[in-house]
Amino acid sequence: MSQRKICYLDNNATTRVAPEVLEAMLPFLTERWGNPSSAYAFGNEVTKQIEAARAKAGALINADPREVVFTSCGTESNNSAIHSALMTNPAKRHVVTTAVEHSANIKFCELLQKRGYAVTFLPVESDGSLDLHRLEKSIRPDTAIVSVMWANNETGVIFPVEEIAAICHSKGVLCHTDAVQAAGKLKIDVRSLGVDFLSLSAHKFHAPKGIGLLYVKRRTRFQPYLIGGHQERDRRGGTENVPYIIGLGRAAELVMEHLDGENTRIRALRDRLENAILTTIPGTNRNGAKEPRLPNTSSIALDSLEAEAVLMLLDQVGICASSGSACTTGSLDPSHVLVAMRLSPARARGSVRFSLGIYNTGEDVDYLLEHLPPIVAKLRAVSPAGPDEVKVAGRDSKSWAARPARREGRKVRKQAA
Ligand SMILES: *Cc1c(COP(=O)(O)O)cnc(C)c1O
Repeated sequence: MSQRKICYLDNNATTRVAPEVLEAMLPFLTERWGNPSSAYAFGNEVTKQIEAARAKAGALINADPREVVFTSCGTESNNSAIHSALMTNPAKRHVVTTAVEHSANIKFCELLQKRGYAVTFLPVESDGSLDLHRLEKSIRPDTAIVSVMWANNETGVIFPVEEIAAICHSKGVLCHTDAVQAAGKLKIDVRSLGVDFLSLSAHKFHAPKGIGLLYVKRRTRFQPYLIGGHQERDRRGGTENVPYIIGLGRAAELVMEHLDGENTRIRALRDRLENAILTTIPGTNRNGAKEPRLPNTSSIALDSLEAEAVLMLLDQVGICASSGSACTTGSLDPSHVLVAMRLSPARARGSVRFSLGIYNTGEDVDYLLEHLPPIVAKLRAVSPAGPDEVKVAGRDSKSWAARPARREGRKVRKQAA
């Protein structure tokens, strides 16, 4: 690998492991490798450290440590919450969620539909916001759970989870929030939010990939998703991922130390980046409401361009950004989030997300602002828009099927290749 400079502006996709987090983890990959379920001291010592990490994770979200269940990722946390609500309320076979959730929710709910459950995917307004009156009306006598994300990973738009939880409880329905994008960016207080379940993923706040947590409010009935041993107070079978749990705990501590100062700094960087793009590059627009929004995220539509082409040229100068959720990158399908906001497919496909983090500096913003305008100008000069100009070889996409003319263009290219 070349050692070129990386200008990482994709912190909603994942974040760098903080050196402090790695340092805390290392002893648990070397000397302290005991199984916490073992009865001897070599195992018990590890249990104590897991419980210390649980206390730190609890403090991050203002939960009692006993309400924290460690999972393998944000996806597992989301799946487990919805699964548990349905299993503990077998007579209730309806789920309410939104059209702009992470695929961890969308795909799980689509599977539930195939298994005979009813799911309402609430639409959003063109600025990405939710109509709470509509949400309230969607709750039925057989609704088991409402699962609504707190902050959107693509646009940064924030939903009023506190109000949503209040609506759910007035109707006797469980409330889950996917708060994966909130950690490190918003102050999380499960007590004032009033939710029954809340998901976090540690790789979004400077711990490694592959560890997350699910907050389960005290006295909430729970059915585990992974069935096995008695770990996590019978709420998740499987030997604990000790080093990663320790890493999550340390990362939670770092967030609490730095949240306020970092957010002010990152918001100023994001605003400078966004304002400069919108004012100096013609044919650009922000996607989603300006506020309430995460302080680090900016989703920008670039008229008559394909985001994939822009990202390819940014990559050539070491800039990492994204065209939406990591799970759809490489596909020519427009982002389901932007489509749900009723942006045109062309505008959705021309949208790029920049997301900043604690390791970004003003230099990163300067570097982007130096390279983006000429890239946009260059691409606009050679391409009057349309995916025909963008080579994403070997990918298939529903949007092609709906565009016979362009599909023809692709065939020609394939034959030529
Ligand atoms: C990243 C992300 C997830 C998935 O978390 P994983 O740990 O990667 O499974 C879920 N929801 C949102 C909003 C995310 O940004």
